[in-house]
Amino acid sequence: MSEKTVAAISTPQGEGGISVIRISGDDAISIADLCFKGVSGKKLSSLKGYEAAFGEVFSNDEKIDDAVALVFREPKSYTGENVVELSVHGGRMAAQKTLSTVLKAGAVPAQNGEFTKRAFLNGKLDLSEAESVMELISAKNNTALRLSLAAKDGKISREIDVITERLLETAANLAAYSDYPDEDIEGLNFENFSNLLNDCSNKLKRMLDTFDSSKTIREGIDCAIVGRPNVGKSTLMNLLSGFERSIVTDVAGTTRDVIENTVCIADITLNLADTAGIRQTDDLVENLGVSLAQKRMNTAALVLAVFDGSSALTEDDISLINCLDKRITVIIINKNDLGINIDKSVFEGFCCVEISAKEDESIDCLKEAIVEITQTAKISESDAVLISERQRNCADRAYNAVLEALDTLKSGFTLDAVGICVDDAISSLLELTGKRVTNEVCDEVFRRFCVGK
Ligand code: GDP
Repeated sequence: MSEKTVAAISTPQGEGGISVIRISGDDAISIADLCFKGVSGKKLSSLKGYEAAFGEVFSNDEKIDDAVALVFREPKSYTGENVVELSVHGGRMAAQKTLSTVLKAGAVPAQNGEFTKRAFLNGKLDLSEAESVMELISAKNNTALRLSLAAKDGKISREIDVITERLLETAANLAAYSDYPDEDIEGLNFENFSNLLNDCSNKLKRMLDTFDSSKTIREGIDCAIVGRPNVGKSTLMNLLSGFERSIVTDVAGTTRDVIENTVCIADITLNLADTAGIRQTDDLVENLGVSLAQKRMNTAALVLAVFDGSSALTEDDISLINCLDKRITVIIINKNDLGINIDKSVFEGFCCVEISAKEDESIDCLKEAIVEITQTAKISESDAVLISERQRNCADRAYNAVLEALDTLKSGFTLDAVGICVDDAISSLLELTGKRVTNEVCDEVFRRFCVGK
C-alpha cells in the first residue's frame, strides 16, 4: 500500500508512566531508524517483527529521551502495515518532542482514528469491529467492556455474516425458481423461502431488541433523585457516590441547582442528578431549582423518589407520588433507623425499598432494586449486541426489507419483487460490516475516534 507513513502520540496527553508514539506505514521502520539509536548499535531495520530495542530518541545529535522501540512487520501489526512504537517517559514534553522528531524524519501527522482506519482498509478489522474499538476505550463498566470486546473479536460480524449468507441463498433460490418455475428442484418452494426469511427476521429482531438495553449499559442511565426537602436526597447521592458530593444539611432548600455524578452500581452506570427538593415555595431562586428538578424527573430513565419514612407524608409528598411513573421509579423510604411512621399503602404497585441513607449497608438493597427496575440483565453472553447507532440503523433497514420480502411473498407478487427486497436487506447488512460501504460513511465512523487510535 502506498499511503504515507503516519505518526501520533497514542497515549493520553499528560503525566504518566510512559507515552507511546506510534508510527505506521511502509517507511515506519526506516523513519524510526533516523530518530532512534539502540544501545546494542543494531538498526531497527535489522530487527524481526515483535522485536524490541532499548536506546534513545535523538534529534540533531541531541538526546530527547530514553526509549524502547517495538517493531511490527506488515501484515502482523494493528494496522497491517509496518509499525514502530516508541515508548518514552510519560509526560507532555518527551512525547511531543519525540513526535516532532519523527515528523521531521518524514512521517505525517495521523488523523483521528487513522491507525484503526488503516487496519480496516487492510482487512484487519471490519467496520463493526473497528467501531467496537472505540466502545472498548470508552467502556464505563464491566458489561460494556465485555460487549465491546466480543464485538471487536467479531461476534457481530459473524452473526451478520450468517444472516447475509442465508439471504444470499434465498436470493439465489428465488432467481433459480423464477428461471425454472416448472422444474421440481428440491428446497425451491414458497415454504422454504418463507422459513429462511422468517429465520433472518427473528435474528435481526433479537439484535435490535438488545440494542436499547446495551445502549443503557454503555452510556449509563440518566437517573434523577427527587423528593421534598430534607428527606435525605443528598445523603443518598453521597451514599451512591461513595463520597461527599452533595451538601448535606438539615436546612430545607439547600440543593438549588442540579448536582451530577456518574457512578457504577452493580455494573450499571448511573448518571445521577441530585435535584432541589420539590415543594411549593415563594422563594424565587428555590422555585427555579424546583422547576429544574421537575424537568430532570420528566426526562430521566430512572427516578429514585425519596421519602422520609420517620414522619407522616406531607402534601408535597403526595403530589410527587401522583407524578411518578411506576415503570421507572424506585420508591426509597429513607430514615428507617428512626422507625417507620408512614402509611406505605400509597406506594402499592411501586418498586419500594426501606433504607437509612446514612448507613453504608443500605447500598445492597438499593442495588437489587435498581437492577430489578432497569432490567439490564436481559443481555445474555451469547447475544451478538449491536454497539452503534449506525449499526442499529443498518440492521433496522435490513429487518424492514426482510419483512417486506415476506409480505410480498405472501401477497403473491412476482418473485422478482421479493428478490428486490432481499437485495435491499443484503445491501444494508454489507454496509453494517463495511464490506460494501461508501467513503463518506467510512470517514464518518473514523472521524469520531481520537488521534493516535
Ligand atoms: P435533602 O434535602 O433531601 O437533600 O436531605 P439531606 O440529605 O440534606 O438530609 C437532610 C437531613 O436528614 C440531614 O440532617 C441528614 O443527616 C438527615 N438524614 C438523611 N438521611 C438520613 C437517614 O437515613 N437517617 C437519619 N437519621 N437521618 C438522615
